[in-house]
Amino acid sequence: MFSTKFVYCSANRLYPENLRIKEMSYCSAIEAMQSEEKKRLHKNYHDNHYGFPIHNDNELFGRLLLEINQAGLSWETILKKENGFRKAYDNFDIKKIAAYTEMDQARLLADPGIIRNKLKVNAAIENAKTILGLQREFGSFENWLTHHHPKTKEEWVKLFKKTFRFTGGEIVNEFLMSIGYLPGAHSEDCPIHHETVKRNPMWARR
Ligand SMILES: [Zn+2]
Repeated sequence: MFSTKFVYCSANRLYPENLRIKEMSYCSAIEAMQSEEKKRLHKNYHDNHYGFPIHNDNELFGRLLLEINQAGLSWETILKKENGFRKAYDNFDIKKIAAYTEMDQARLLADPGIIRNKLKVNAAIENAKTILGLQREFGSFENWLTHHHPKTKEEWVKLFKKTFRFTGGEIVNEFLMSIGYLPGAHSEDCPIHHETVKRNPMWARR
């Protein structure tokens, strides 16, 4: 199963070199990267984060926020801005973000460290409010995810679409692969694949 972590549709036009490597898995594409800086950025995400379970609600929310912000852009753009996102969005503190005012929205829309898109900024705030509700009902966002596991990709997409803002199929699939709820983050011959399995991801428990 190929990961689409690299790019989404429209990003192919912005980064024509990705047309060539999108046929590869994310795992092997990194090795083929020419620039060392680019390689380092992707390798850190690939080796330490991609496909590893997350047991912290703010970090889970943060990953969803980053995936939502990728829409139409390359994952690289998001990785480069990750610290900017953390700074601008109170280190993904769900409670704080759910309480953001119009002033905070204006601040975010003026911050070049993140993606300044009104729909994406609104989605972050509304989704934070939704997750607060899920935390009240289920104890945590993670519990809500666990409660609904296992589901097919299609069922997850349906559930996310009726629960959250800005959660299309590609975003939901990438989010759930990246946190170990759906398989396919790494190719099976990738050494990191085995590292993720050791962390007992949900997809491997069925
Ligand atoms: Zn890999």
